[in-house]
Amino acid sequence: MKKLISKFKAQKRKNKVRQNNPDSGKKSYWQLIDSLHSDECPVCYALLHVQKKFIEDIFYESVNDPTIRHKFESSGGLCPIHSQLMFQQADKLGLALLARDLLQKALDQNFNLSFRKCFLCEHQELTEKYLIEDFISSLPLQNFTKELQISKGLCLKHFNLIFAAITNKKDKNFLLNWQKEKMKRLLQFLSEFIRKNDYRFKEEKITEEESKAIEQVWNLLTQ
Ligand SMILES: [Zn+2]
Ligand SMILES: [Zn+2]
Repeated sequence: MKKLISKFKAQKRKNKVRQNNPDSGKKSYWQLIDSLHSDECPVCYALLHVQKKFIEDIFYESVNDPTIRHKFESSGGLCPIHSQLMFQQADKLGLALLARDLLQKALDQNFNLSFRKCFLCEHQELTEKYLIEDFISSLPLQNFTKELQISKGLCLKHFNLIFAAITNKKDKNFLLNWQKEKMKRLLQFLSEFIRKNDYRFKEEKITEEESKAIEQVWNLLTQ
């Protein structure tokens, strides 16, 4: 019930921001806004969300679409990460249809398949590109900067990609300071977590934020 109420409140807040914001026309603006409320890098979070949705769409609407089946077949399968993601997201019948095509092809060609790039990796690269572009073009927007305060910060990879792509000095400084502030906060939580693990301070309770910080930092440091 608590979860439901907070979901309702979050939706209400989003609707309010949407009504007051004329800048919501960008392709991934709202995906980014939603992602800023997660505990992860907003670009990584939005990227995974878009990929899951893409896989969902393939299986709900296009698994019989010859273009998708051809794409899957001609790429010779998927990379290990997307193969796992597809298996987690998709329904078994859709997977069976795709797997049957590929297995038949492998048998016909004595298992000598030519591997192209995984088509979900291609989709991921394109999505990442527009998410980064939209993140940068949203930086001057008041509503976006306000929502940025809620975020835990960007991962190293996306911070560096975004920082390198910003041409405006003011936005560059803003992003650097914002990221530093977020990382310093996480550093504090980590230090407290480490300190409280010392037997001399074991009476002090580790807070939720302090214990969550390990996973957050670990994910943010991933390249
Ligand atoms: Zn990231
Ligand atoms: Zn892939």
